[in-house]
Amino acid sequence: MSDGRALARQFLEQQRLLGGDPVILADGRTGGPPDCKTDEHPPVPQLSARPPVRPSARAPSACPPVRPTAISLPPDGISFDPPGGDLFSNDPVQQAGSLDAIAELVTACTRCRLCEGRRHAVPGEGPGDARLVVVGEGPGRVEDQTGRPFVGQAGELLTKILAAIQLPRERVFICNVVKCRPPENRVPQYDEIAACVPYLFRQIDLLKPRVILAMGGTAAQTILNTKQSLGALRNQVHRCRGIPVIVTYHPAALLRNPNWKKPTWDDVRIARRLLD
Ligand code: URA
Ligand code: SF4
Repeated sequence: MSDGRALARQFLEQQRLLGGDPVILADGRTGGPPDCKTDEHPPVPQLSARPPVRPSARAPSACPPVRPTAISLPPDGISFDPPGGDLFSNDPVQQAGSLDAIAELVTACTRCRLCEGRRHAVPGEGPGDARLVVVGEGPGRVEDQTGRPFVGQAGELLTKILAAIQLPRERVFICNVVKCRPPENRVPQYDEIAACVPYLFRQIDLLKPRVILAMGGTAAQTILNTKQSLGALRNQVHRCRGIPVIVTYHPAALLRNPNWKKPTWDDVRIARRLLD
């Protein structure tokens, strides 16, 4: 199989995992339309039942590009400037000069009751020059055991979601609103979030990413300082200290409800578009 077709198949497989419609290839397997034969222009997968965004750019006999990048951006949403960022305060979180310094503070932190039950705090991980920051709710069981974010089942799905927008997870900074596991994975309480969120905002300040992907209601409501529901917050480009924030479903929710995979795919494509 040509590299182009192999790439297209891989892309389709990722898309199928995210809930897309199956596409049948000329040879009976999944893939692109049979009239595209050149390797430079591998067949484009039909992403979903939605119409292509730029139909005029698609001559019927031409082979379109592999990835549909020209999706339109949704309208502007909330803009939030969290407090902090005061270098002259004597708060060690505000004075932390690197991601490692924050991780060190988190590891020793006793600012809220979640420190009592933790095995490991989970500060977050990823390169200091990451262009995308993914924010979840809080560590689960495997994360608490390992000290690493999103390494359980939900994490595996997150890794696939990132791969589907051509982002290896190693290039993304991945973290949570609270850095210690809530008992029985309950939703973090308001005072726990209030105690922990300065770490997140300091991480964002240091990283200065191009885009923030807020996964789930807790992440979205915390980063945007709102009580609006996840459904109401989706499909807008919000901002946190000027950085675009895209809101989508939490991967754990996707495992429970596969119907949300397709809207999630739409959301992450918007995030991808903002990165390009
Ligand atoms: N869910 C989260 O929100 N974060 C993790 O790190 C793992 C699961
Ligand atoms: Fe500190 Fe956050 Fe852990 Fe609470 S959840 S103890 S604030 S690191």
